[in-house]
Amino acid sequence: MSLKDVFCQDKAVSLLQRVFCAGRIPHAYIFAGPDGVGKFKTALEWARLLLCKDPLVKNGVETADSCGTCQSCRAVEGNCHPDFNVIHKELVEFTKDGKDKKTPVDLPIAVIREFLVDKVCTRPTLSQRKVYIVSEAEKLNTASQNSLLKVLEEPPGYCCIILLCTRLDRLLPTTRSRCQIVRFGPVDEEKIFERLSQTGLGRDQAVYFSRLSQGSIGLACRWAQLEQTDAGLYALKTNLLDSVAKLKFENVPDVAADLLDKSKAIAKAWSELENDTSKKDIDRMASKSLVGMVIAALHDAMKLNVKPEDEAVNFDQKKRIEELAGRFTAQELAEKISGCYEILRWIEAGVNEKLVFEQLLFNLAESDRMTV
Ligand SMILES: [Zn+2]
Repeated sequence: MSLKDVFCQDKAVSLLQRVFCAGRIPHAYIFAGPDGVGKFKTALEWARLLLCKDPLVKNGVETADSCGTCQSCRAVEGNCHPDFNVIHKELVEFTKDGKDKKTPVDLPIAVIREFLVDKVCTRPTLSQRKVYIVSEAEKLNTASQNSLLKVLEEPPGYCCIILLCTRLDRLLPTTRSRCQIVRFGPVDEEKIFERLSQTGLGRDQAVYFSRLSQGSIGLACRWAQLEQTDAGLYALKTNLLDSVAKLKFENVPDVAADLLDKSKAIAKAWSELENDTSKKDIDRMASKSLVGMVIAALHDAMKLNVKPEDEAVNFDQKKRIEELAGRFTAQELAEKISGCYEILRWIEAGVNEKLVFEQLLFNLAESDRMTV
């Protein structure tokens, strides 16, 4: 791969290429945008270009790309480039005092200090530059950001740091102001649909996942992968909507227990497909996907009451959406959606999964017209 192969982020890519051609490359970037829209892929290809020994530059049209064949490009490809580093919270167990430490929720200062701040002063060995990609920069806590700030204030001339961030508001103004911000927008639903269809996914599944993903092609592809396993998400969502549309208070524990089993099966299938994501993150991704499905159904029901002509995410279960819309007013649906977002925050905070699903479902059952 190279920069020209980055999917649907032409604006960000051409901005980087112009900067490269002009030879004025900032020492620190924030790539800001939702999860799964190509921030990491772009950062990786940008790093490959910055490190390349023989970059392909066309000044007239201001495009630039890595050569793909030099020693540096091959080292990035082989994941063994001495001047290229990806910093992520899972590195905690390789810090001095990190033995037996579990993956933390935030990006701890020990990781930033030992893998970035302490190492940035040694000169590059293979290329002319050193590149650091910091994943999930929204999880940098204040101590980590303050530690990083020292480098951002006076970066060595050869260094380029790229912070990947889904929430700019989580970064301190002092961090933000020292970085060039490059924005990454959601990918078009149509493009995601095309990509999913190319993998052999059925039309209904491809439409559903592309709408549900809200522009996160990475997430849509991960869901699509599950369809090849026993933990197919599409069948699960069909059953989930059947249960949720007429959920009774007394059925909540059973439905929640079933959802918990399904979530575990999804996490298990995912962990067999990807080995560089921590178990905790995979568990969270599975629970969040299920909550996301409920949110989409509630949104559909709300739109049915207010703007019926809009195309639903759950276009294939209109009857269930009508049942939900019949049970709750738009105001109630809005409150339930906001309750679901609160549950997403619980998941981020590491609240027990059983509790998460019970709360999710009680939220959907509780204000059903109860006879007094
Ligand atoms: Zn090269």
